[in-house]
Amino acid sequence: MNKPLIVPCPNCKTAVEWGEQSPFRPFCSKRCQLIDLGEWADEEKRIPGDPAWLPSQDDENEY
Ligand SMILES: [Zn+2]
Repeated sequence: MNKPLIVPCPNCKTAVEWGEQSPFRPFCSKRCQLIDLGEWADEEKRIPGDPAWLPSQDDENEY
């Protein structure tokens, strides 16, 4: 009885396996987690018209 549980990422609906290999579950990635929390969305809204999104310093190791 060790069937993996698959959940859809709340942000992008990607299938995410619920386990140690998915540290950001139920999100597929740290980016989706941050988007859902509104952290980076808030940041983007503060810079209307900015053409390029620059990853925050916290994120740079993820890319
Ligand atoms: Zn996602």
